[in-house]
Amino acid sequence: MVDDQPFVIPTLHARDGDRILLHGSQASRMLRHLESGGAVCITVTLIDGLVLARSVFHHSVNYRSAAIYGRGEPIPASEQYAALEVFMERCLPGRWAEARLPNEVEMKQTTVVAVPIESASAKVRSGPPKDDAEDMAWPIWAGVLPLSLQPGAPIPDTQAIAGVELPDYLGRRG
Ligand SMILES: Cc1cc2nc3c(=O)[nH]c(=O)nc-3n(C[C@H](O)[C@H](O)[C@H](O)COP(=O)(O)OP(=O)(O)OC[C@H]3O[C@@H](n4cnc5c(N)ncnc54)[C@H](O)[C@@H]3O)c2cc1C
Repeated sequence: MVDDQPFVIPTLHARDGDRILLHGSQASRMLRHLESGGAVCITVTLIDGLVLARSVFHHSVNYRSAAIYGRGEPIPASEQYAALEVFMERCLPGRWAEARLPNEVEMKQTTVVAVPIESASAKVRSGPPKDDAEDMAWPIWAGVLPLSLQPGAPIPDTQAIAGVELPDYLGRRG
């Protein structure tokens, strides 16, 4: 909340034990809010399908969602590098060991903050539509259209150096 205006900022996150790591630019208002101990609610949702019922009222989605509550906590400068490694390893295991590591200038532009999980809730919907008995004879298709987030085939950068092979960690996903 800034000047009575609520904000929701989409961002990458990484779980590190009982805390969530968030990262971004030093200038980010969200990160400055968290570094000063500001309160936050982090939500994450995975959509598993569209649920098509006979009645409009009972249409729904299958999903898994979580709401996490806590307060931001600054990570000391001496621990920023290690926190960034944890963050990247959670997002794409194996990449940190191969990529050029951050230099001093880049580290100065980046901040990682922690949000210790104070409380959290999760909600899940799964399965078929749940229509009212009197609608079961309504003559339309009903059921679930599954949706999922899947990695596609890797697309090499146009300037990729010839002969550099796809890393194992992408080969397994692709
Ligand atoms: C993709 C998606 C689409 C949805 N669409 C609809 C919709 O169109 N209409 C609708 O009524 N509901 C929808 N929901 C469910 C919705 O998220 C709420 O659970 C529901 O609306 C109840 O809200 P409320 O304000 O009464 O919650 P409250 O009773 O005020 O919630 C109390 C506490 O429960 C927890 N909580 C509530 N909902 C969730 C959640 N989804 N995940 C984790 N914790 C939660 C939070 O900690 C919250 O503070 C959708 C959920 C998802 C993931």
